Amino acid sequence: MTSPFKGRSGREYLAIPGPSVMPDAVLQAMHRAAPNIYAGEIVDIAASLVPDLKAVARTQGHLAMYIGNGHAAWEAALANVIAPGDTVLVPATGRFAHGWAEMAEGLGATVQILDFGKRAPWNMDQIAEALRADTAHKIKAVLAVHVDTSTSVRNDVAALRGVMDEVGHPALLMADCIASLGCDAFEMDAWGADVMVAGCQKGLMVPPGMAFVFFNDKADAVRRAMPRVSKYWDWSPRANPEEFYMYWNGTAPTHHLYGLRTALDMIHAEGMEAIWARHTKLARAIWAACEAWGEDGLLELNVVDRAHRSCAVTALRLESPHATALRDWTEQNLGLTLGIGLGMAPPGDPAWHGFFRLGHMGHVNGHMIMGLLGGIEAGLSALGVPHGRGALDAAAGVIADV
Ligand SMILES: *Cc1c(COP(=O)(O)O)cnc(C)c1O
Repeated sequence: MTSPFKGRSGREYLAIPGPSVMPDAVLQAMHRAAPNIYAGEIVDIAASLVPDLKAVARTQGHLAMYIGNGHAAWEAALANVIAPGDTVLVPATGRFAHGWAEMAEGLGATVQILDFGKRAPWNMDQIAEALRADTAHKIKAVLAVHVDTSTSVRNDVAALRGVMDEVGHPALLMADCIASLGCDAFEMDAWGADVMVAGCQKGLMVPPGMAFVFFNDKADAVRRAMPRVSKYWDWSPRANPEEFYMYWNGTAPTHHLYGLRTALDMIHAEGMEAIWARHTKLARAIWAACEAWGEDGLLELNVVDRAHRSCAVTALRLESPHATALRDWTEQNLGLTLGIGLGMAPPGDPAWHGFFRLGHMGHVNGHMIMGLLGGIEAGLSALGVPHGRGALDAAAGVIADV
């Protein structure tokens, strides 16, 4: 029976793990005529973004900004410190670690992958072993995805730094915080990341198009020792621009600057600790609901241990083909779009539909999350997918602090 209820009218909700929901204030800030890029307020706005982005990253280091998506941030960071023939170590807990590894390979690096599967975090003992085995210190960088968006596994970057120090390995620690920045707590300097990459379209609440590479003096020394660095990706002039055009090596992403300025104003008005606490609480509400559904049915959180779940994205298993059917149902009937599974299909089974993801990054609050969970509950019921009871009560209890 097709549903008589076609409820797409009303504000739609894109609950995928990036791009994320954009605040109206950000969109309004961007809705303007093209500004002069040679003088005027755009020059001051660009300069004002730098300290504010560093505050979000919790670093006193340097920042290079690029026009590009997360993949551009990956390549930008690598292009400054990895030359053909260099070796990188990649502890992988999902598709994005492999993606960054492939990008390093494309730049001529030798890639050593430690694959920890799709449901568990890094195993620090195995990382320590790999670093210890590298007595010649050939590994130049460890590419560390903080939150792997494909699996929603959150890794412990500070502990990785601890292991590298303990072993006494001089490699750079390069962190991918594209999913986590502005959602899950991250402290670049305190946790000892030498390089950190991010994009603007997830926790920072701006349309896709800006990429960021933060780096410290140690990483910059590695950059200066490189035989050559592509002129476009070179972080030096971008981090120390003598002229406005040098920030982006050409035309600035003008409208993004207005949007990002407004987003950063919102972020700093709320405060990083409050933002992390909000994401934590909303994530706990989602987990409570999912655990209730899972108690008696087919739905299962991909990451079993709460301590290793991201507060920005949640990956869920729901026996094929129900996951895709659920996504189709909520989109067509509720105007609620859930995220697809990424890199999760069993080998040789591209038609597998047993996985989906929820994005809860950036501009989200309790009523949106209750709406998201209520929509999933309705979808499970409409499709006759067996599921445990009490999910919404459990989520509301978390939000109500009872
Ligand atoms: C989204 C994401 C990327 C890729 O970003 P794009 O903007 O899609 O290129 C890389 N790493 C992580 C952890 C991400 O969440």
